[in-house]
Amino acid sequence: MTKQPIEIQCAACGKLTLARAEPLYDGFKKTGEAFICTGCGARYASAAETPFASAAPARPHIFSDADKPRPLSIFSDDERQRSCGWCRHFVVNPFSQRCGLSNKATEATDLCARFEKKTSAPDADPPPPPRNV
Ligand SMILES: [Zn+2]
Repeated sequence: MTKQPIEIQCAACGKLTLARAEPLYDGFKKTGEAFICTGCGARYASAAETPFASAAPARPHIFSDADKPRPLSIFSDDERQRSCGWCRHFVVNPFSQRCGLSNKATEATDLCARFEKKTSAPDADPPPPPRNV
C-alpha cells in the first residue's frame, strides 16, 4: 500500500530497477496491487508475482583495513645514532654526500629531524660513516 517506488529485480528487462504500485480495484473495492517496472514497463499482476529486490541477494558491505590509522613508530633507545651517516636517506657518491630527502649536501655527522635509521645493519655495529674526502 505504499506510494514509494519499490526496488525489483525485473524478470522482463533483467535489471535492478524500480516498480510503481498500481492499485487494483474490483468495482470500487481495492483488491490488491499490481507492480509496473519503471524500466521496461513490464506489469506484474500481483505482489506475489513481483520479483522484489529484497528477495535478491544483498550487496555485500565491503570494509577495508586500509583506512585504519597506522600505529606511530616510536623512537627506541638507539637515538644515539641520529646523524646523517646512519640515515637511510643519506646518499654518497664520488662527488658529494647529500640527503636523499632534501637533496642538499650534508655531512655524515649532521643531525637531521627527518633521520631514519638504516635498516640494513640492525643491531650489529655498522661500519663507520664515510669520511669527507
Ligand atoms: Zn523491467
